[in-house]
Amino acid sequence: MRSEDVWHRAKEASDFVMFAPLLEEVFATAKRFSLYIEPDRDPYEQRLDDYEEGLTVAACDAFFAKLRERIVPLVAKVSAAPQVDDSLRFGEFPVKEQEELAYYLMRTMGLDLGHVGLSTTEHPFTTNLGSHFDERITTHYHTDDFASSMYSVVHEGGHALYDTGSEDGLAYTALDCGVSMGIHESQSRFYENIIGRSRAFCELVFPKIAELYPGQMAGHNAEELYHAVNKVQPSLIRTEADEVTYSLHVMIRYELEKRIFAGQLAIADLPAEWNRLYKEYLGVDVPDDKHGVLQDSHWSSGLIGYFPSYALGNAYGAQFLAKMRETVDVDACIAAGDFAPINAWNRENIWRHGHRYTPAQLLDRIYGAPFDPEFYLTYLETKCHDIYGV
Ligand SMILES: [Zn+2]
Repeated sequence: MRSEDVWHRAKEASDFVMFAPLLEEVFATAKRFSLYIEPDRDPYEQRLDDYEEGLTVAACDAFFAKLRERIVPLVAKVSAAPQVDDSLRFGEFPVKEQEELAYYLMRTMGLDLGHVGLSTTEHPFTTNLGSHFDERITTHYHTDDFASSMYSVVHEGGHALYDTGSEDGLAYTALDCGVSMGIHESQSRFYENIIGRSRAFCELVFPKIAELYPGQMAGHNAEELYHAVNKVQPSLIRTEADEVTYSLHVMIRYELEKRIFAGQLAIADLPAEWNRLYKEYLGVDVPDDKHGVLQDSHWSSGLIGYFPSYALGNAYGAQFLAKMRETVDVDACIAAGDFAPINAWNRENIWRHGHRYTPAQLLDRIYGAPFDPEFYLTYLETKCHDIYGV
């Protein structure tokens, strides 16, 4: 698409004015399409519904209002606390050992390597070739930071577990995929963050990392790894954000998209408004548009209304965890490296159904109750208390 090409060049040059006319066109076209599909509905809500069936602007507003109310002060408290030392993840980590770590992680989390392949790309992703029998994940090895690829593999591995856990009878049908973007992200983030950044997981994998990199890990321990991979630091770039600040990046994009669609914000005023919200919610100063409004590719590809599914995924996952804990001793399973009971719960309740249900129907089947972000907020607050004592 022309807008993607111009966005690439505009980002490189940090020149929003170059991209603005295309962005104007992308938003206008998206709005026009929404009105073709559902003429009587709020066009932005139609966009949301496209990615997360049944999601309304009212529900999304309420969700983000709750996040704003609890996460913004939490981030401020953590920022004022003594910082954690994350130096053990940085250094010189040759690719060969990182590759071995990737396969160790895939096996540990219960991926069937007969049906899931691993490769490398610039940006990690998951895809399948025709059906869930042939799943592919990718990662990117950064030789100066082993944790980057490690968590990419666990994240993409979560997507692949979901896909390959679909009932075989759904293969080659339109139901052979997940419920929605948000529920898919709930699974990848469940493995990446809730499991992968837990103390039990760090204790499980540290010996393997130390075996692969004995020199780099000398004098370090699992507790240091746990702190390093949970460091909270307000930053400029969404894809590099930590678990606590991540949803605030999404919230900013949601607010801006909604206001542009409603005609309350002009494209020309977008960079200034972006920078203002980053200062207000994250306390950071945006130096230029490359590190600000031009950072994501989504808008240039016409993906408007897509961002909220990332934050919803975080929150769904925490709600699933609470329910799983009623019947599965999650920490004991992780400590033992036995993911079978965790995966069996996810397969029974989520994966096997493929695309049969809407997000609300799935939550109702599992919980008998609607979506509730309280689980997610409590989860974040508990972790910050554990790591930062706030
Ligand atoms: Zn993902």
